[in-house]
Parts: sequence; C-alpha cells; structure tokens
Amino acid sequence: MEDLKIIYLDNAATTKTAPEVTEAMLPYFTGIYGNPSSVYSLGASAKKAVMDARDLIASTLGAKSNEIYFTGGGSEADNWALIATAEAYASKGRHIITSKIEHHAILHTCGYLEKRGYEISYIDVDENGIIKLEELKAAIRPDTILISVMFANNEIGTIQPIKEIGTIAKERGIIFHTDAVQAYAHVPISVDEMNIDMLSASGHKFHGPKGIGFLYIRTGIKIKSFLHGGGQERGRRAGTENVPGIVGLGKAAQLAFEHLEERAGKETRLRDYLIKRIGEEVPYCKLNGDAGRRLANNVNYSFRFIEGESLLISLDRKGICASSGSACTSGSLDPSHVLLAIGLPHEIAHGSLRLTVSEENTIEEMEKTVEAVKEIVERLRNMSPLYEDFIKSNKNV
Ligand SMILES: *Cc1c(COP(=O)(O)O)cnc(C)c1O
Repeated sequence: MEDLKIIYLDNAATTKTAPEVTEAMLPYFTGIYGNPSSVYSLGASAKKAVMDARDLIASTLGAKSNEIYFTGGGSEADNWALIATAEAYASKGRHIITSKIEHHAILHTCGYLEKRGYEISYIDVDENGIIKLEELKAAIRPDTILISVMFANNEIGTIQPIKEIGTIAKERGIIFHTDAVQAYAHVPISVDEMNIDMLSASGHKFHGPKGIGFLYIRTGIKIKSFLHGGGQERGRRAGTENVPGIVGLGKAAQLAFEHLEERAGKETRLRDYLIKRIGEEVPYCKLNGDAGRRLANNVNYSFRFIEGESLLISLDRKGICASSGSACTSGSLDPSHVLLAIGLPHEIAHGSLRLTVSEENTIEEMEKTVEAVKEIVERLRNMSPLYEDFIKSNKNV
C-alpha cells in the first residue's frame, strides 16, 4: 500500500483538510486555548475568532450572523432541524414532508419521529432523482409543519429545484429545511432568494475539519435548545464552542467561496471526462442521476453483472478510493435506497460505483481510473456465470 500513490475519488464521503485550514486551527490548540465565555483576554481572542467565522459563514448565505448555529457536523444539524421543529410546532400539526432519497441523518430521524406520533410523507423522485413537485404539493395538509428536502444528493449528485420547493413552502406557511451538506461551499446558495428557513452544512465535505458544521435558522423560527446546558449559541446549543473546529470551518468556507467557480470548473472537467470515457469504454453501463442538474464532482455508474463491493476492493488494490451504492451502511448488503428510488432493479443497483472528484485531482488520475475500471469490470464479468449466459443468449439471437 505504502508505495502506491493514492487516487482519492471519494470526496462525497469526506475531503482532505486543506493545509490552510489546519494552519489556521493550530493556534487555537496551542496559544489561544481560552474559553470564549471567559472574561479575560485569552478567552476574548477565542470569542473573536468564533464571531469572525460566524460572520463569514453568514455572509456566504446572505444570512445574519445570529442565524448561524455551530453544531458537531451535518448529522447533528439534520437531527436538530427535524426534532426541534417537530416539538416546537406540534400544536400546529404533526405532519412532515421529505423525500425518498434523503441522507440517513434525515431518514432515520424521520423514523424516530414516526415512533413518537408524527406522520411523515416520503415524496418520490423521477428516474434522474429529481423530486416530483406535483406530488409534494399534493402531500401538503393543514397540519403540515415542515418540508425537508436535500439540496443535492450525496450518491447521484442530483441538485433539487430548491427555490421552487422554498416558494411552495412559503406560500403555504410551512417551514422549509434543506440538508445542504453536499451543496454548501460547492454551489451558490442564497437563503432569502431560495426561501430556505433552515439549512444544514458540514465542514469535512469542503476541505474543513470533521465533527463541525452548522445549522442556519431563520429569525422567527421558534425551535428550542437541542443540547441543554450553558448559554452558548444564544441558548440553543449548549457546550463550550469547538473553537479550533469553528476556525477551521470558517477558513474552509472562505477558501471555498473565494474559488467557487474555479473549483467547480475544474471538477466539471474531471467529472465529464470520467463520464464520457467510462460510458464509451465499458459496455453495459448506465449513468445514474441527472446529466444537467448535477454536482460538479459527482459520477455514479451502474455496471450490469458486477458486484459493487468486488469492484471497490479491486480498485483499492490499485490505490483508488471510491464508493459503491451501499457504502454508508457498510456491512449491510441492501442496495442503496437512492438507487432503488430512481427505479434501478436490485441487481443493477448492487453493481454501482460512485466516483467523487475534487479540484485537486488530475486528468492523469482520471485516465488511470478509467483504465482500472475497464480492466476490473472485464475481469469480474469474465468470472460471472450470469454474464456468460447473457453473452451466449445474445449470440444465439
Ligand atoms: C455527509 C452527509 C451528512 C452527514 O454529515 P456529517 O458531518 O458527516 O455528520 C448529511 N447529509 C448529507 C447529504 C451528507 O452528504
């Protein structure tokens, strides 16, 4: 493994922390370790750093600084948005609308709420993973309190019509939350233009540190504290601030927004190269997700007669880090709920591969990856009795 140069193509799972980010964080472990709540200046310096990061992040969304609440990552932000809204608005109603392709941080929280007397409607998506707006509208009831639809999907990269969903929610006086963990710091987002009331994001998906993220909560939304204790985060999220994490999150956001178009441009070129070459060179494959409304970094292919896990293991032997349709629930053999929701049959969903690039990847790496995928798919198919039958029956026709 040591002498293999890693080709990292799993940036939807996590990204490499940028050197500028770790450098910005370091002083807050060593010299400036004060508690932001203290009165002495060591604490005040830490407090200032937290405020600066909050201001910067708010500005990237067109939000106010006091609408940004730091959390321990994307999952916490998602849990908080759903559970606290459900509790705060229970007297208005107990109905929530979401989609079938959400991250498990949303879906499993919905399951938790269902056990506590809430009703959840899971809206279908079309074959490209775009939510069916008519179905969404039809699902709205007088007791609907919240719509939660992800900004962009982590498996197939499909970007949802967020502004349209926000408008529908606003017209009917329903709170709109979006899990923007894959989208924030990758695509431009304006919470006002898109009528977003709550938004989740996570540092480690855009070259920031792990275990830090935020929830944007629009002024006027009355949800309460998620973690009880001290008065941090305006009394809504107790616990001494993760100062180095917050500083790193702020730095990562700053870098991302300074280079948003440039990064997206580079990623799009790498992505389109992979999509084109794999599509041309590997027979019996299918691109999953929407060709146009797609994150700049996402490639997701299904290969017939292939087990995704075997493909991943073989790619790993060549130093290529990727993921398959069931990566998030490793150990489970269930195919991805996202691929099933876009209508893939089980056996095809099993043979899927997600490659997510970053601007640091190169065309040479893409070239090596295409060659590796081509070779491995061919080798695995040659060992498959199903593939053999398929080829024979095709010849006989
Ligand atoms: C990664 C991810 C999460 C979870 O974020 P963590 O910071 O890892 O908790 C939630 N939603 C989506 C869409 C993600 O991609």
